[in-house]
Amino acid sequence: MPNPPFAMLASTAEVLARPDADERLLTGYERERLGRFRRDTDRDDYLAAHLLVRYCAAAHLGTDPAAIAFGQRCPGCGSGVHGRPYLTDRPGTHLSLSHTNGVIAAAAAPVPVGVDVEHLGPRHDDPTALRHVLTPAEAALVRGHADPTAAFLRLWVRKEALIKLGRTTLDSLAELDLSHLPIDPPAAHRDGDLHYLEIATATAVFTAAATVPVQLLEL
Ligand SMILES: [Zn+2]
Repeated sequence: MPNPPFAMLASTAEVLARPDADERLLTGYERERLGRFRRDTDRDDYLAAHLLVRYCAAAHLGTDPAAIAFGQRCPGCGSGVHGRPYLTDRPGTHLSLSHTNGVIAAAAAPVPVGVDVEHLGPRHDDPTALRHVLTPAEAALVRGHADPTAAFLRLWVRKEALIKLGRTTLDSLAELDLSHLPIDPPAAHRDGDLHYLEIATATAVFTAAATVPVQLLEL
């Protein structure tokens, strides 16, 4: 029996503090990319993200991170050095990866899975953004919430996770209405065929979505 689907959420510093946080786990194109970052923080975020997705896949598969054959494929341009993560030797295992300014989320599951994480910040609730991303019912929920920025981020992260699942696109976010879901949900909840795992920390908001329940795994 494989282990359950897992998601992991951690800061770049936490990932890089692991004793096995070794950039030699990365493959050729990733190490080449590491060498081209101009800012150390960007380099560290990339390294931590590409390590965390391996830890997550290894935990799900019950194997060693060094045994993870990680690859990427861009659905937009076909590139093999960025875009959607996958395992080159296990087409039946699905991965998802998200990182933003020092916070990383990853997931591994036997079905398609989407994760997104964003920093809690003051930048996301201007009226233009609301109109492009939210339905009128969702925008009303956000405006009526005690913390509109956090409420907007909840919906944004949820929709980003659904983009990664192929359930919507960036251009049609404003037509996908999720106003029936709570803005402040329990960590695990369900909507139709989708199971959500949603967490808000003091600094970030996180969603994982899949057609099976996904468990949060501590680093
Ligand atoms: Zn591309």
